[in-house]
This record gives sequence, structure tokens and C-alpha cells, in this order.
Amino acid sequence: MMLVVAHPDDECFAFGGALGLAADCGIETYVICLTDGQAATHRGDAASGEELGRMRRAEFVESCRILGVTHHELLDYQDGRLEFADFSRAAGRLVERMRRFKPDVVVTFGSDGSHNTHPDHMIVSMLTTAAFHWSGRPKRYPGLALPFQPRRLFTQTSNYIVPDRQAPLLSPWTVELDIRAAKERKAEAFRAHTSQAPLVEKTKWLFEQHGDREFYLLLASEAPQPATHMTDLFEGL
Ligand SMILES: [Zn+2]
Repeated sequence: MMLVVAHPDDECFAFGGALGLAADCGIETYVICLTDGQAATHRGDAASGEELGRMRRAEFVESCRILGVTHHELLDYQDGRLEFADFSRAAGRLVERMRRFKPDVVVTFGSDGSHNTHPDHMIVSMLTTAAFHWSGRPKRYPGLALPFQPRRLFTQTSNYIVPDRQAPLLSPWTVELDIRAAKERKAEAFRAHTSQAPLVEKTKWLFEQHGDREFYLLLASEAPQPATHMTDLFEGL
């Protein structure tokens, strides 16, 4: 399974259950995070953006360790500026990694940008969707390793919206993932982002109220089929 996110902490607050459950099944996981989160509102005791970036890189590594992630990588894009990145080049970097790692399943944010409608999340969604389809096409990036087509693309969605915020326009879900077996690890991984402690505290009630499940949409798969309900990202593979 390959997961593509924008910021350190995305991997746990949004996808921690899916990663934890995959680890329990012995599934190899590769998390790619595009920025080191220097534009965060919560800055811990960092004196500069660079220092915050260094802190958040270390927090990301610890969070991945807690979630049992087997491979992780943090790229060098600027936090809050992904919409200005070169789309073709950024997608190519993901294509190259898909062709090398050969994931069956690729997961990312929905095009809504998740609960905070973050533009970086939206761009990650679009880049990953393009890379998923281009990875299997010999005419796309012919110089970047041999074509490899991952089998399924899922995007994250939700069954609730955060009150007092402008609501995202969420996609429906096809997967309802019971993450209770990984819930405590998900919370622990989030707490490992110590620079984001106020955010962890502020969102605690959301996880208490809604934290037993994660929701995903099957966005692309090998065979034409009606949308059907699944309880696992790997069902039938
Ligand atoms: Zn984020």
C-alpha cells in the first residue's frame, strides 16, 4: 500500500487506522509526505521555519514507527505552496516511486481537501490520482523505470463535518473501515507530533466521537463495476 499526504501528521490523523490495520496484516506500506509542515499554525518552541521543519520531520518518523509503516519518505515541497509546484514534475516523482515500489493499493486525500479543505491536500489528491493512472502508461515518463499499474486507488472521505467551519463537499464512501483495533496506535502516533500538541488537544473530542471508523472511496479499479460496499481496502486482492 502506498499513501501520499501533504504534511507530517496527515498520515495519522486521517489515515492512521488504515496504516495500523495494514501493519497488523503484514502488508508493506510506503508513506510519502510532500512537505515538512513549516507553515503550521502551531509551532512548538521552534525559532524558525527551518527548525519547525526539522522537528516535524522527526515527529513524522516517530509517528510512522508507531503505526508500523515499513517505508517512509518526506519530500522537499513548500508547505502551503503545493498549488504552485510544477504539476508534471511532482506527478513524475510519484510515478517513479509507484513504478519502483509497485503498490497494489494507493491511498490519498479526497479532492475536497479533507475536513480543513486544505489546498495542499487537494493538490496531493490530484497529483496522486494522475500518478496512479500515468504509472501504468508506457507513453508517460518513458525514462522513469518500467510502467507499473497499481490495482486500486482510494481517496479518504468522512461521515461527519467539523462544526463552525466551512464544510467540505465530501465524496460518498465505498469502504467503511472498522479501525478499533488500531485506534490507540492512531492516537499515540498523533501525540508523537509534539509540536502540534494544541491541535491534538483541540480535536480530541472529534476522535472520541467519530474515531472508531475511517471512510474511503474506491476511485479506480481494474474492472468496470458498480460501486459496492467494502469493509477492507484489500478485499479480494
Ligand atoms: Zn495536512
